[in-house]
Amino acid sequence: HCRPLRGDTLAFIDRVQGLRIGGAWGAQASDGGTFASVDPATARELGEIAAATPADVDLAVAAAARALDAPEWRDISPATRAQYLFDLADAVERNLETLAELESLDMGKPIAQARDDMGGVALVFRYYGGWPTKLEGDINPVRQPFMGLTLRQPIGVCAAITPWNFPLVMASHKIGPALAAGNTVVLKPAELSSYSTLFLADLAREVGLPDGVLNVVTGAGSVVGEALTTHPEVRKVSFTGSSPVGQHILAVASPLMKKVSVELGGKTANIVFPDADLQKAAAGSAEAVWENAGQVCVAPTRLFVHESIADEMVRLLAEETAKLRLGDPLDEATTIGPLVSAKQFATVSGYVDAARAEGGTIAVGGEAPAGEGFFLEPTIVTGVTNDMRVAREEIFGPVLSVITFTDEEEALRLANTSDYDLSAALWTRDIARVHRLTQRLRGGLVWVNTVGKLDPGISFGGQHQSGNSRELGRESVLEYTKSKSVFIDP
Ligand code: NAD
Repeated sequence: HCRPLRGDTLAFIDRVQGLRIGGAWGAQASDGGTFASVDPATARELGEIAAATPADVDLAVAAAARALDAPEWRDISPATRAQYLFDLADAVERNLETLAELESLDMGKPIAQARDDMGGVALVFRYYGGWPTKLEGDINPVRQPFMGLTLRQPIGVCAAITPWNFPLVMASHKIGPALAAGNTVVLKPAELSSYSTLFLADLAREVGLPDGVLNVVTGAGSVVGEALTTHPEVRKVSFTGSSPVGQHILAVASPLMKKVSVELGGKTANIVFPDADLQKAAAGSAEAVWENAGQVCVAPTRLFVHESIADEMVRLLAEETAKLRLGDPLDEATTIGPLVSAKQFATVSGYVDAARAEGGTIAVGGEAPAGEGFFLEPTIVTGVTNDMRVAREEIFGPVLSVITFTDEEEALRLANTSDYDLSAALWTRDIARVHRLTQRLRGGLVWVNTVGKLDPGISFGGQHQSGNSRELGRESVLEYTKSKSVFIDP
């Protein structure tokens, strides 16, 4: 490793070899070999990670199925289940520096952002620690003399599949509500960023979570993910990732009668009206669109700006963008790191070329700085129209398209013209407009005078090509339960 790293980080990378099934390292049914994890800031290999086989998936699911029915999980009080989640939150905070460094190295996010993310993971576990004691059922008004009850029970073994952009945050969105509701989990992290999730499995053991309640299997989506989503013992599949893979998972897992939740891609519309606080809009939009080098599902990549303020907004955004420090993610001053992989770099650069070819103007950035790693400058494209590829397709990199509009109806029509339906934002001081547009903008989340913020207490999720479920909040924990009605003749 070419930079000074924490001892804990190095020790962990050197130690990781096997999978994390039923509480033990390296419980592998067969030898699937390993795959390399690459540091995107240097393009050098960080270490080797076990490539699980379908037989390993069988082993992990069997461990999760045993744990589901083991008295030390099934029969514990809700308060004890809550305590495990609180303890997991504390353990994440105790190991925050190591976890942040692992994610920063593994997928290239700036260390300061990685710390914020890990703080967020602890908040999610703590939030869901509040739920086991509050998952109440119903007493239903049925005809006398009968009594009707509705119980909320765990669904069973849950398969969780996560993307590389927010590795542990995405894992917490699934593990938190799944465990709160009494399920057990087999989680497969993305090949490009598996370390922090493997570390979490160690923390689960440290806090005494019963063996098999949380299992981690690493490897290729087409092998390990496929085996997991089609496994007969898995009752629920929760996937976050790209829309094509989400469609595939729905196609293979739904006929097997599993509950399938998918959280997919996005193309967030961000509308700025002339009556907005433009400085605040520029600062908030820049922060959200460049975070994680634009590799964020809710990144506000389509900026719709009223024609009367378009030049001013682009100037302010360029000013905000100039404040960014692109560089080594482990450097405290860095605010924008590399893209996650050579492939991602090629895809995103291709969109910059496409923007030029389709008549857009590269107002800011667009170049790859010289040197090692998969870095690309934050790029603002002006003169974009809604039919251009940069306006329609999810780029998943630091590319912002600026599109002008003349009135509210046009803004709404343009914003709502997308295959994705994840989220939207508007900036205005007009309260009537806020009410009109929050009703009519498509998507599962609308921000007003802010953008990109999430909180464990409020759910989010998309529709159409952006998905079919909710994560966070009460809605998500209910999605990890099944109801059972009980009809009693006294
Ligand atoms: P991806 O779809 O390529 O991979 C996601 C996960 O699915 C990985 O773990 C991968 O190994 C696995 N996978 C791949 N093929 C599979 C298969 N056949 N069966 C089962 N699993 C399989 O996505 P990615 O590139 O890791 O992540 C980026 C995407 O995730 C973007 O589209 C982004 O918008 C989306 N995302 C969405 C949200 C949200 O909440 N809506 C959040 C973060 C990321």
